[in-house]
Amino acid sequence: MRYLAEYRDPAIAKALIDRITTRATRRWTLMEVCGGQTHTIVRQGIDEFLDSAVEMIHGPGCPVCVTPLEQIDKALAIAAQPNVIFTSFGDMLRVPGSDCDLQQVRARGGDVKVVYSPLDALALARKHPEREVVFFAVGFETTAPANAMAVWRARELGVRNFSVLVSHVTVPPAITAILEAPDNRVQGFLAAGHVCAVMGYTEYEPIAARYRVPIIVTGFEPVDILEGIAMAVAQLEEGRHEVENQYVRSVRRLGTEPARALVAQVFELTDRPWRGIGTIPMSGLRLRDEFSAYDAERKFGVEGLRVTEPADCRAGDVLTGRIKPPQCTAFGTRCTPEHPLGAPMVSSEGACSAYFNLAKYRRGEGAEVGA
Ligand code: SF4
Repeated sequence: MRYLAEYRDPAIAKALIDRITTRATRRWTLMEVCGGQTHTIVRQGIDEFLDSAVEMIHGPGCPVCVTPLEQIDKALAIAAQPNVIFTSFGDMLRVPGSDCDLQQVRARGGDVKVVYSPLDALALARKHPEREVVFFAVGFETTAPANAMAVWRARELGVRNFSVLVSHVTVPPAITAILEAPDNRVQGFLAAGHVCAVMGYTEYEPIAARYRVPIIVTGFEPVDILEGIAMAVAQLEEGRHEVENQYVRSVRRLGTEPARALVAQVFELTDRPWRGIGTIPMSGLRLRDEFSAYDAERKFGVEGLRVTEPADCRAGDVLTGRIKPPQCTAFGTRCTPEHPLGAPMVSSEGACSAYFNLAKYRRGEGAEVGA
């Protein structure tokens, strides 16, 4: 606890705020691409403390939020089938699809279970050989090694009644897409520490050089984030544009090589649609052909399913930083955590839920405000 407490120390945080506001000769625009960082920034008021020096834009860093509607609808279609046990992390259960969510499929008799690991789903498949067990493999590079391991083990064990609905996305192509957008305002990025703990940060180096933006690999505690911002502001003030690692206690330049190797053996890059953003070339992972027997989309024939994102949810504008959540007309009225219209209001990492909880806290209703 002592170790963590240092990263929440008010005196250290205050010194970093002073360093940033003193150093900035103009107001810079930075984007964090991590839902955990978004929640820390909003909950701790970091964006407000730094408002004169830095505008913080919340990027597409919540994996649940960027999962497109069509992938949710594929999950719902598979979960509703009679012989299926559909497994998922708990945060996907209330993400609305076109007609309902996974919780409602369960209420109608579907066998939807929350698991804590894809290996738990594989264990279920071995326990119920007469049923088809599907795991909803959502997430950035962080969760890909465990999902790759589950598929690898399933093949090794000869388990044929297990498959994964893959919705993996990767961060560097999303940063590139943001920088390529004609209306881009972002001048520097905080990259997610947990993603880089797996993948390292070599992929960010050509992006920083090509687009002349600092990219700081950053942790999740308030002091981590303030230090990451201070490093980005220092680079901007000095005209530098490099990848730097604030999160040295967890991240090495090449990441975790055995995990990267496993991911590369099981998955390959593919074009992937992002919710509200559209398809970003080579921004996702899919199973390699030799693992196609474990591809739930093929097994259940839902590959061709296409749907249109709902017009009244502005998730795409929120996820690309064009608006802040309260600027969506549905925020806090037609869209609340109890009755969400879009994933960013459901997910524990979503920007809309972060702002909603903050508003609730300010009204004195006891929201999830941390220490
Ligand atoms: S407040 Fe709700 S409707 Fe608006 S962008 Fe966020 S999730 Fe979508």
